Amino acid sequence: MSFYCIGNWKMHKTPQEAKAFLQTQKLKNTPKTILVGFSVPSLVAQSAAEALKDSSVLWGGQNCYSEKQGAFTGETSPFVLKEMGASFCLVGHSERRQVFLETDEMIGSKVKAVQDNGMTPLLCVGETLEDRKWNRTEEVVLSQLRQGLAKADTKKPLWVAYEPVWAIGTGQVATLDQVEQAHKFIHKFLAENFRSGVPVLYGGSVKPDNAGAISKIESVNGLLVGGASLDIEVWNQLLSACV
Ligand code: PEP
Repeated sequence: MSFYCIGNWKMHKTPQEAKAFLQTQKLKNTPKTILVGFSVPSLVAQSAAEALKDSSVLWGGQNCYSEKQGAFTGETSPFVLKEMGASFCLVGHSERRQVFLETDEMIGSKVKAVQDNGMTPLLCVGETLEDRKWNRTEEVVLSQLRQGLAKADTKKPLWVAYEPVWAIGTGQVATLDQVEQAHKFIHKFLAENFRSGVPVLYGGSVKPDNAGAISKIESVNGLLVGGASLDIEVWNQLLSACV
């Protein structure tokens, strides 16, 4: 299996900035063992599609609605994302859960919609600091996986990201033991309830100086990277650290 490095740009970059970044990235010699992708804001999708035409670098959405079309003002259609060339779409990122109050039920419907429209859902799960303090990490992750995958097709592509909420954008990265334990737990759940061989990515304050150690954990199949994916030099240092 390739190692996945997916950048999550959140609500950063204009179409011009995205195009300049991705055109430069396309020319870099990314190691063949790494599958590189960027999860881009919807308004930047067209620029990403143009910049990455005929490239092995993938792009995807950060969120979409559970319906293909209709009276859903302000929403992003998974059908349109696919037509524009997106390969994947994040579902259930902690910012969607916390800031936009997405429920596990909504997330389960979105996972299905992303699959039904021919893309790979990147389902994000992870506990809050409070959950971890009370030893509820596995219970929370289990519930998010169960509900997030309730309507998913086990024969269609799926990626999962373990992102402890307390590590996202805080500079406080999970320890290697915490990452390994959570990833093994998720792999076991997936093998028993979905399918084995689903890539499980780690996300939460990954930077060039910790990416190497995290990527060497056997149960870590890739990284989901926010802040460190915004600057092309930092991003490529991070990719080099993973080889
Ligand atoms: C993320 O946005 O999913 C993320 C992990 O962000 P950061 O790398 O900045 O913690």
